[in-house]
Amino acid sequence: MNIAVIGAGYVGLVAGACFADMGNNVICVDNNEEKLLKLEKGLIPIYEPGLEELVKANVNENRLSFSSNLDYAVKKSDVCFIAVGTPQGEDGSADLQYVLTVAKQIALSMDGYKVIVDKSTVPVGTAEKVAEIIKENSKYDFDVVSNPEFLKQGNAVDDFLSPDRVVIGSNSDKATVIMQEIYAPFLRTGNRVIVMDVKSAEMTKYAANSFLATKISFMNEIANLCEKVGADADMVRVGISTDSRIGNKFLFPGLGYGGSCFPKDVKALIKTGSDNGVDMSIISAVDKTNKSQRKLFIEKITKKYGNDLSNKTFALWGLSFKPQTDDMREAPSVTIISELLKMGAKIQAYDPKAMEIAKAIFKDKITYAKNSYEALVGADALLLLTEWREFRRPDMEKIKNLLKTPVIFDGRNQYNPIRMEQMGFEYICIGK
Ligand code: NAD
Repeated sequence: MNIAVIGAGYVGLVAGACFADMGNNVICVDNNEEKLLKLEKGLIPIYEPGLEELVKANVNENRLSFSSNLDYAVKKSDVCFIAVGTPQGEDGSADLQYVLTVAKQIALSMDGYKVIVDKSTVPVGTAEKVAEIIKENSKYDFDVVSNPEFLKQGNAVDDFLSPDRVVIGSNSDKATVIMQEIYAPFLRTGNRVIVMDVKSAEMTKYAANSFLATKISFMNEIANLCEKVGADADMVRVGISTDSRIGNKFLFPGLGYGGSCFPKDVKALIKTGSDNGVDMSIISAVDKTNKSQRKLFIEKITKKYGNDLSNKTFALWGLSFKPQTDDMREAPSVTIISELLKMGAKIQAYDPKAMEIAKAIFKDKITYAKNSYEALVGADALLLLTEWREFRRPDMEKIKNLLKTPVIFDGRNQYNPIRMEQMGFEYICIGK
């Protein structure tokens, strides 16, 4: 199959490389020249485990290429995936300008029947808008399909190659067959393609992300109460998660969710609710709890040191919004660093993969350590914000020796509080 993927970001690049790996001819289109230059030189602009090898292998086999020429890519392809960003608009809704611009560009480039696939996360009704634009700008036959993406950054390649399920929202049998053909090689182990109407597919993505965000905020709320009443949130987590109806995923108390998806998707669902006269009170509370989780962490710091932090230096471990990615969009670290800087604190930061992105955001306002231990030198406390594997079992004696005072604020509950106390640390974590 000949496939165009428009938008070579975290989703588009992974999808394009994986489609190519299954033997399809794929052109990834992007309008960011800097990104394209890197890709053409064999450099991968983002960090995603396994992606570099996959891209290189498929470029070498001439199944995967990169271009800024959308017209050429559309003409060469039977199926066009739209995978551009849908950031949060000013009123909380998903900003569809990139999706709708691409839809028009596709329409103007069509030279025959095409399946146009909304892979970006878009609110209910977007496929109809895309179809209208294409009808207005092209005389050729087409179908618009919704195919929301469920990959997780940090595990994106594996998730795409072996998805739990593939959702296809299609009102056309012809397009459904083509989509099933594209995804069949990914589902050989029996995982399902779920075919449904377009609107239900669009809603499925928002419902999935909002449900996951709800689990996180729910557990954080329980953790905050545990702290006040003397219970241990991690014991409670284990206690409830052994119930198979609850499950053990997404129940770790911490700093709340971040990244380019959950925060904006939760807000977009609230907006869809209000546009349709439905009060999304649960989801609204999820958003509120998530915001306050970062504030509560800062309050733990100011409770100890006061609001003037001008003579305090903090070592900070973890900048990306979660481990195994360099993405800092909506990361707790961004909010927490900004607040601490406002109070005069100095920050010495380290992250295994997000240092370059952090430098672009914070420039010389903070200092950047070469490794986790260098960040600790002379600091008043360590703040652990992202649970990268290398932070799980560090040399505690070394940490104690390098810090000015042995204090750890752990936003991810990585260590055992009793053990930490025995070792002479003041250890402040979440929900205990
Ligand atoms: P991204 O910002 O990493 O990538 C989007 C890409 O689109 C960028 O490279 C940008 O240059 C390009 N682009 C924008 N306008 C263009 C145009 N007119 N022509 C060509 N290229 C254009 O975004 P992402 O994280 O890959 O997310 C894309 C979509 O997928 C969003 O709707 C997001 O909500 C959804 N999604 C993301 C994830 C995730 O984990 N990142 C998971 C599932 C779904």
